[in-house]
Amino acid sequence: MSIKKVDVLLVGAGVMSATLGQLLQLLDPSLNIMMVERLSRVAGESSHALNNAGTGHAGYCELNYTAERADGSIDISRALAINAAYEISLQFWSYLVENGILPSPEKFINPICHQSFVWGEQNVAFLRKRYEALHTHHLFEEMEYSENHAVLKKWMPLVMAQRDPLQKVAATQVKHGTDVDFGFLTRKLVKAMTKSPNFDLKLAHTVTRMKQYPDGRWHVRVRDNHTGHSKTVSAGFVFLGAGGGALPLLQKSGIPESMGYGGFPVSGQWLTCKNPDVVKRHASKVYGRAPTGAPPMSVPHLDTRMIDGQPALLFGPFASMTTRFLKEGSVLDLFSSLKSNNLKPMLSVARDNLDLTRYLITEAFKSHKERVASLQAFYADAREEDWELASAGQRVQIIKGCDVKGGRLEFGTEIVAAKDGTLAALLGASPGASVSVQAMLDVIGRCFKSRMESTDWQRKLKKMIPSYGESLDENQALLDFVRKKTLSTLGLEQE
Ligand SMILES: Cc1cc2nc3c(=O)[nH]c(=O)nc-3n(C[C@H](O)[C@H](O)[C@H](O)COP(=O)(O)OP(=O)(O)OC[C@H]3O[C@@H](n4cnc5c(N)ncnc54)[C@H](O)[C@@H]3O)c2cc1C
Repeated sequence: MSIKKVDVLLVGAGVMSATLGQLLQLLDPSLNIMMVERLSRVAGESSHALNNAGTGHAGYCELNYTAERADGSIDISRALAINAAYEISLQFWSYLVENGILPSPEKFINPICHQSFVWGEQNVAFLRKRYEALHTHHLFEEMEYSENHAVLKKWMPLVMAQRDPLQKVAATQVKHGTDVDFGFLTRKLVKAMTKSPNFDLKLAHTVTRMKQYPDGRWHVRVRDNHTGHSKTVSAGFVFLGAGGGALPLLQKSGIPESMGYGGFPVSGQWLTCKNPDVVKRHASKVYGRAPTGAPPMSVPHLDTRMIDGQPALLFGPFASMTTRFLKEGSVLDLFSSLKSNNLKPMLSVARDNLDLTRYLITEAFKSHKERVASLQAFYADAREEDWELASAGQRVQIIKGCDVKGGRLEFGTEIVAAKDGTLAALLGASPGASVSVQAMLDVIGRCFKSRMESTDWQRKLKKMIPSYGESLDENQALLDFVRKKTLSTLGLEQE
């Protein structure tokens, strides 16, 4: 039996695998890369435009990235890290646009003002403190703040229409926020790779199992979904960029680093606006504050989107209960992921998060009227008949073992890599696609360590990402230089 040999096997055709593939191809065009995707299309799961919110997460509007400490002060460290990581993505995408690898930028990225909006004394006090903590930092110096109804009417007319003039409200805004069609971006990244004779895209093929051989190579079983026949691919390096499907595959790899991990799936739904006149009246992303007890991914937001070149208006996501790890997954996914090594953390998270489970179940049974009522807190005039429900993607939050409680639920992203650097997986969902470039650089740094340190790769990385190896958080002059360049190259400059 002939076994196909590749240097790199990318499992899944979402934004993560596409970004890693593109980076590796640019660093070493001679690498033999295969991408295997179970669906018959690229970016069919979380990376598809309607399955995520398309927010270029930079910490400008997402209030859950700036937690309030017990003493009332605001912790901005996560917002700074996410902002700097997003600048890495912007630089890489600029390089790809300049070199004709990506098409003209407005097809996948557009400037959309990022706003946070809150009401009520306590929330206003929080937003004011958040603004004061952020805007003195150079990464956030363009942030504006107002509690004035007249000003806010100009910033967000739809949100302020019919609002009680005595209601205490506040908002911040950053004009150079972005909306990204991650589905389009992923498709173009993959399309560009197919131009190389060293790249092989296998759609409608599923990775079913894998085993490491004594020579360090991975023998991966790949099933053709049409014929049902399986073949073995031998890979020097495997990336499990399978989104919600990454955890089950990581478990199948059996690497010691995979032990103890579990997943908590959460599905999502949007209200999408059917009335073009309403769509025209709003032109920003307005993020609110998650209701008490709600998970961070359920922060409501009213979003102007550009999907396939057309403006759209979405509200949500409404998080909800599911046992599937992928939108096109199986209801048995959650149960099949229970293993002796993760049972304790999974049970402990189930025990400690009853409020979250209750919240997700309640959300799942909300009526259309109740969902529109949540929207009316942002847009008082919203009419039920102008909005319809659409399903978003699935997120699998990470469950990890810990000494104190036995297990804990995490809302971030994590790279799990084998000690010998032959396999890596990306788990978790937030801040997601926006930081795909930084995340994939981390994978390369861990799994291609010596090549990453070589003069050749360092030189190439510096060309693709001018700030590579330096801190944008600490170096204002460098930030000013790269931001000016990316905003101009990607057409994101705002007057
Ligand atoms: C509701 C929601 C809102 C979000 N909003 C944002 C946002 O505003 N901004 C942002 O930056 N991020 C956002 N995200 C997160 C972002 O969408 C994800 O982080 C990102 O798309 C993940 O990309 P991925 O390549 O890891 O996974 P995916 O895009 O899910 O791709 C994984 C692929 O692997 C395939 N696959 C799975 N198992 C196998 C197998 N065994 N064999 C072969 N192929 C397999 C799947 O079919 C899929 O195509 C959001 C996510 C959700 C769900």
